[in-house]
Amino acid sequence: MIVLGSTGSIGINTLKIAKKFNLHVEGLCANSNVELLNKQIKEFNPSFVAIGDERLKEKLTCKKVFCGEDGILEMLECSKSSLVVNALVGFAGLKPTIKSIELGKKLALANKESLVVGGKFVDTSNITPIDSEHFGLAYLLSGRSIKSMTITASGGAFRDVPLEKIPHLKLADALKHPNWSMGQKITIDSATMVNKLFELLEARWLFGQGEYDAIIEPKSLIHALINFKDGSTTAHFANASMQLPIAYALLGKVDEPILSHVDLLQVKDLEFKSIDPSRYPIWEIKDEILANPHLGAIVNAANEVAIEKFIKEEINTIGIAELIKKALLEFSHSLPQSIEEIYEIDLHVRNFCQKG
Ligand code: NAD
Ligand code: MG
Repeated sequence: MIVLGSTGSIGINTLKIAKKFNLHVEGLCANSNVELLNKQIKEFNPSFVAIGDERLKEKLTCKKVFCGEDGILEMLECSKSSLVVNALVGFAGLKPTIKSIELGKKLALANKESLVVGGKFVDTSNITPIDSEHFGLAYLLSGRSIKSMTITASGGAFRDVPLEKIPHLKLADALKHPNWSMGQKITIDSATMVNKLFELLEARWLFGQGEYDAIIEPKSLIHALINFKDGSTTAHFANASMQLPIAYALLGKVDEPILSHVDLLQVKDLEFKSIDPSRYPIWEIKDEILANPHLGAIVNAANEVAIEKFIKEEINTIGIAELIKKALLEFSHSLPQSIEEIYEIDLHVRNFCQKG
């Protein structure tokens, strides 16, 4: 297989599963963490690697190195592997997603932004999601008639902070996720609840049109629930680890223990809460976005710019949702007709948000 984003949180866990099941790694890709990438090259002996930052090419210990955005696509074209794990972060993951599908490869997709922005133009029939909620939903599907699907949120780093303090929180506060250790961008997205909005869109593209919603389950032990038309509800319980979704995405079927079971007697109680827009202002646009999923391209581009601004302390936590709403007001009339138009919209929204 090819692992894109191998030095990140999902990439590292993917390589753990590859090692456990003795899977062949043909190619690796990372942005700039040369030290870790060289360790991975030594351990997995890939035929080639791709590096985002071209200046680092000479420092890599692999014979064949591809560089930059196009380098990732060239590596995919050279690859004989039938499986690609896309664990890149953000919009940078979209082209490799499209390319992998074009090449007829099976895609284990962690890069949810690919579906958030381009879901309308992405054939999902060969995609297995690496996201605990979507893995949970897929696990629960049973052929019975579905009324609605629910995914859960932990509530992120701002869950228990007094409301009046939220506008004053900084990057270090946003990174204090209560339950999961993940990359920086998704941890910020979890704090603002943008991640859950993205996951609702991801679910819509993966499982089709339907009723989707999210609730807070603070212990992150239930990841997904399905309400069936017959009146019953099933829930997927698993301890918080991405290794289970990754193992399924890589292997298709798993008969060996990956995690220990959730011990309900130790857990004792579970709590469920609705997502409050006064804490998570992005939630005000949830219904509009779900009714018009093509708006995901605008939300994503604005969010990526807003996160950069938040990191540089040019805007506060609330400013992230404000910038996204401002971009929606400006661009919501645009209805992309092709993936090329998605790239155009992305660029326009970024330019607008940089100035705003
Ligand atoms: P991360 O920041 O830890 O890792 C990102 C990886 O992508 C790194 O290896 C980085 O070097 C590489 N990368 C980034 N930009 C690149 C570029 N331009 N060229 C080449 N390589 C580049 O992120 P993560 O937490 O592993 O998340 C990856 C994706 O998986 C995101 O879309 C995220 O939403 C999704 N996801 C993550 C988790 C999790 O537990 N971490 C769970 C569900 C979904
Ligand atoms: Mg998730």
